[in-house]
Amino acid sequence: MNRIDNLAKARAARTSRGTRMPRLLKPLTSLLTDQKETLQRVSKYAPSQLATFQSAFQGVRGKAIKAKCLECVNFERKMVETCEISGCPLWLYRPYQHQKAKAPAE
Ligand code: SF4
Repeated sequence: MNRIDNLAKARAARTSRGTRMPRLLKPLTSLLTDQKETLQRVSKYAPSQLATFQSAFQGVRGKAIKAKCLECVNFERKMVETCEISGCPLWLYRPYQHQKAKAPAE
């Protein structure tokens, strides 16, 4: 069974339960000092990404991956999309990688 099958199986199991478990988010008031400093830096240099970083620090895994990739390439979304560092553990999960596939052909 491959990864896609496993994801489909997990999704089906969640759906069959009828409800999804509510996501328990950490309150932003409980952030660590380093996390607060990161949010200050993001609000200064990439304010449009602030919500992503806040969600990451609240425990949302997908947002954490997105935030790490954006931080890695100095908040250049296009560079995340075209990242060629396949040796990075996050490479398979990086955001925006399917943007080209969704874009209409010119
Ligand atoms: S996948 Fe690419 S952009 Fe994301 S953290 Fe790794 S090297 Fe950086």
